[in-house]
Amino acid sequence: MAKKSKGVQVSFLGGVGEIGKNMTVIECGEDMIVVDMGVSFPKEDSPGMDAIIPDVTYIKQNIKKLRGIVLTHGHEDHIGAIPYYADVIKNTPVYGTALTIGLLRRKLDKDAKKCNLVIVDEGQTVQLGGIKVEFIKVAHSMAGACALAVYTQGGTVFVTGDFKIDNTPIDGKKTNLQRIAEIGAKGVTLMLGESTNVERRGSSTSERVVGQSLENIFNANPNKRLIIACFASSNYRVQQVLTLAHKYGRKVVLAGKSMKAMVDVASACGELHVPKGVIVDGIGKLKPGEALILATGSQGEPLSALNKLSKGEFNKINVGSDDVVVLSSSPIPGNEKSVYDVINALFRKGAEVIYDAMNDIHVSGHAYEEELKLMLTLVHPEFFMPVHGEYRHQYKHSQIAKMLGIPSKNIIIPNIGDCYGVTSKGIRKHANVPAGNTYVDGVVLEDGEALVSDRRSLAEYGMILVLAAVDLERGVVVGDVDVVARGFNLTDDGLRNIKNAVIDSINAADFDKADIDEYARFAKKAVRKLFARDRQFPIIIPVIVED
Ligand SMILES: [Zn+2]
Ligand SMILES: [Zn+2]
Repeated sequence: MAKKSKGVQVSFLGGVGEIGKNMTVIECGEDMIVVDMGVSFPKEDSPGMDAIIPDVTYIKQNIKKLRGIVLTHGHEDHIGAIPYYADVIKNTPVYGTALTIGLLRRKLDKDAKKCNLVIVDEGQTVQLGGIKVEFIKVAHSMAGACALAVYTQGGTVFVTGDFKIDNTPIDGKKTNLQRIAEIGAKGVTLMLGESTNVERRGSSTSERVVGQSLENIFNANPNKRLIIACFASSNYRVQQVLTLAHKYGRKVVLAGKSMKAMVDVASACGELHVPKGVIVDGIGKLKPGEALILATGSQGEPLSALNKLSKGEFNKINVGSDDVVVLSSSPIPGNEKSVYDVINALFRKGAEVIYDAMNDIHVSGHAYEEELKLMLTLVHPEFFMPVHGEYRHQYKHSQIAKMLGIPSKNIIIPNIGDCYGVTSKGIRKHANVPAGNTYVDGVVLEDGEALVSDRRSLAEYGMILVLAAVDLERGVVVGDVDVVARGFNLTDDGLRNIKNAVIDSINAADFDKADIDEYARFAKKAVRKLFARDRQFPIIIPVIVED
C-alpha cells in the first residue's frame, strides 16, 4: 500500500464534507502522524446509533509508520474516537495540551493506563520520527486549543484547528498571530483551514461579551434562582458563571456528569479557577436568590440535566416561577426540535427562559469570514485545502482563498478518503485510502452500514416474517405458510399473495439441487418482488424449516 512521494502526503479519514469526526493523516517518507481522532453524533439517518467514528483501516495498514497522534484540542469531534481505538493506538504517543489530555484521560478511564498520553505546552515543538510538530496557541470556545505547524522534509503543513481571533479572551491568551505570521513568512506548503463559520460575515464576538450579558441577568433577577445551561466543555463560559456567582453571593450546584468532570479536570490543570466555597453539593435550604444551577443540556439532549430539570426529574428540584433559565448556547443544526421542546417545557412550568442570540448570551468559538481571511493572509500558503465543514462551507472558504490571491489550481476541496501528494512543484491526487463511517452501538460494529440500512427500512417500511415447512425430498411446501407483519399494513389480499408467492417459488425450485438456505432466498425474492411494484421495501425474513 505504501506510496512513494518525495513531498508530503495528506489523507482525510474524516472531518471533510461534514462537521464532525475530524481525522487527518500526514506522511513524509517513512513517517506518519495523525491529527485528531474525533467522533460525530448520529442524526435521524442512523437511528439508535451511539456514535459514528472514522474508519481507521488505513492506520492499521500503516501502523509501523505511525509516530504519534497530535490533538488540536479537547472537543469530542477531535478526541472522541480515541477510546474506541485504544487498542489500535496503544503503542503510539498521543500529544495534546493539559486540558485536552486531561479530558481524554477521563474518557479513556481504565484504558488510559495502556495509552501513552503526553502533555505539551502551548508553543512547544515535538519530534515524531522525521516530522516536527509545533503547537501554536489559538483562541477557541475551550482552553488548550492549538493550531499545528507540521514540519517535514517535503514542506510545512499548517493546520489551523478550530480557532477564532478573540482579542479580549477570558484567560488573556490570544491567538498567537505573531508566531503564525513568522511561520507563514518562512513558507508554508499546504494549509488546512477550518471552515465552520465561513458563512458568517465580519468577525466573531469576544467570549467576554457573554459575561457582561450574564451579569445583566444577575442584576435583573436578585431574588430568582438562576439555571444556566451551556456546553460542559466551554470552560471560559463556566469560569464566567462561577466568577459572577461568587461576586453576587450565590452558591453553584453542578448538574450533569460531564459538567462535574470538566470542572474537575479543568481546575486540576489550571484552566479553571473555582472561587473557594462557591460550589455546593445540593440546593439544600438556599433561597432562590442565593442559588445557581449550572447544567449540561443546552442542546436539549434527552438524558441531560436541563432536560431532567424541565421534567421535574432532577434531584427533586421543581422548576417554576422563581426560576430564570438561561440557555447559553445556540442549537447545533439538527438539534432545534429537542432544544425547543425543553424550552417549551420550562415555560409551561412558569419559568422565564432566556435563549436567543439577541441576548448575547452565547458567542461562537469559530472564526468568521474576516478572521478566516486574516489567517489565510498571515499563513499565505502555496496550497490550500478547506476542512472542518460541509461541502458548502469548504466551497465558500475556497472562494475566499481565491479572492486573497491563491491561484485556483492550488486550492483543493478534499473529500473523505482523498489522498494528496504535495511537492513544491504541485499537488497530485493519489489513489483513495480506505475511509468512511464506522458505527458504534454499544460496541464498534463490524458492518454498521448494513445495520443502519436495516433500521432505516424497518422505520420506513416495517418487516414481514414468513415461515414455511418444506419436504426436502419432494421440494414442496407442506401445510400452511405463516406470515407475521410488524409495522407493515398487511391486507387480506397481501397475505394471500405472500403465501402464494412463497409456495410457488419453493415448488418451482429444482429440488435436486436446492437446500434450505436456497429455498429461503427464493421465498425472500418472491415476496420482495410483490411489494417492490408499489415501492415498498419491508425487511423480509424467511424462515424455512424441514418438514
Ligand atoms: Zn472545537
Ligand atoms: Zn471541531
